[in-house]
Amino acid sequence: MLILAPGREKSLLRRHVWIFSGAIAEVEGEAAPGDTVAVVDSKRRFLARAAWSPASQLSARVWTFDPKETVDADFFRRRIAAAVEHRKFLKLDAPEGGCRLVHSEGDALPGLIVDRYGEFLVVQFLSAGVERFRAEIVAALEEVTGAKGIYERSDTSVRAKEGLEERKGLLAGVEPPNPIVIVENDAKYAVDVRHGQKSGFYFDQRDSRAAVAALSAGKRVLNAFSYTGGFGVAALLAGAEHVVNIDSSAPALKLARHNLEMNRIAPTRCEDIEGDVFSELRRMTEARMKFDVVILDPPKFIESRAALVKGCRAYQDIARLGFGLLVPGGVLVNFSCSGLMTPELFQKITADAALDAGVAGKFIHRLEQSPDHPTSTAVPEGFYLKGLATRIDI
Ligand code: SAH
Repeated sequence: MLILAPGREKSLLRRHVWIFSGAIAEVEGEAAPGDTVAVVDSKRRFLARAAWSPASQLSARVWTFDPKETVDADFFRRRIAAAVEHRKFLKLDAPEGGCRLVHSEGDALPGLIVDRYGEFLVVQFLSAGVERFRAEIVAALEEVTGAKGIYERSDTSVRAKEGLEERKGLLAGVEPPNPIVIVENDAKYAVDVRHGQKSGFYFDQRDSRAAVAALSAGKRVLNAFSYTGGFGVAALLAGAEHVVNIDSSAPALKLARHNLEMNRIAPTRCEDIEGDVFSELRRMTEARMKFDVVILDPPKFIESRAALVKGCRAYQDIARLGFGLLVPGGVLVNFSCSGLMTPELFQKITADAALDAGVAGKFIHRLEQSPDHPTSTAVPEGFYLKGLATRIDI
């Protein structure tokens, strides 16, 4: 049992699910990592049942606020069924498509990520609580979705914070093909779920890829941090004249090539540059190259509060370079997937970058993670991805 310090129950009364080590006054009885423990306030009134994770600063994550609800196989079946129903509501259940099926706190399953690629699922167990219930979770996923195969990609360093080793491999059913082909907004994408980044594909940019496609007919597009060319394929299918992808990952660019072929896009309409975006953008600036649309979708530059200032500078630097590569009337589409970056700050940085580049413009779209990556009303930290489309004046 976790007894909270006086006053530290406040966030739980607002249904927030995180309990930090500093909020805990006392641990009564024995509890092993991943065990389900009762959480009580300083007067020992029941608050919640939570997963115990002593190795982490985030020492417990709430499973349920209902004193009558137990955490067992049936609990996971109910929560997973609710998550699947939500994707059906969002019309993301097309069998040949893909989506995020379970988004951790956003689906009241802290630490669990499940992505659906057609008939296959890719799972990440990111907390001691979900690790403890791996068998129940896999069984529930099989039962609720009828997936052909379930593959684990818990090979991520965030597991270390929970005292867990990295893991990877087939969990149930048959091995997924390599690549798996999924359809998104009429585009086909090949995904390598074994070796790709995260679980293989960035579903969180689905709606933004559609927004970029709508801007792209007849345009020359620079797709920086392209990964497997998602934005580029969407732009080309929408009639873009030419796309340049830049990424530091050779395997990602190889799949980007394959994606052109699968979508019957003439290979000459796309150029791939393997390299560092910062130096490539500088080189293009020196060469006075110009584009109609520039996309900047970098990895997380802000991993912690300590990295905030440095990270903001990096976002501003690339946005300045991006603005500088636009023709008059061109559009910069830049993103930040750092949770610590607020939308207000991101707008300010983008505005400052325009000033630095000596251009003025208008914000034309505010973009965010697609809705299969839900933010729970109780856990605002789930909102991490923001983007802006900014048109510079003619
Ligand atoms: N826009 C992509 C997702 C981008 S993820 C999509 O829609 O699918 C970020 C990408 O940036 C990764 O592919 C990673 O390989 C690449 N990357 C990270 N740092 C980089 C750098 N300094 N230069 C070039 N690419 C980089």
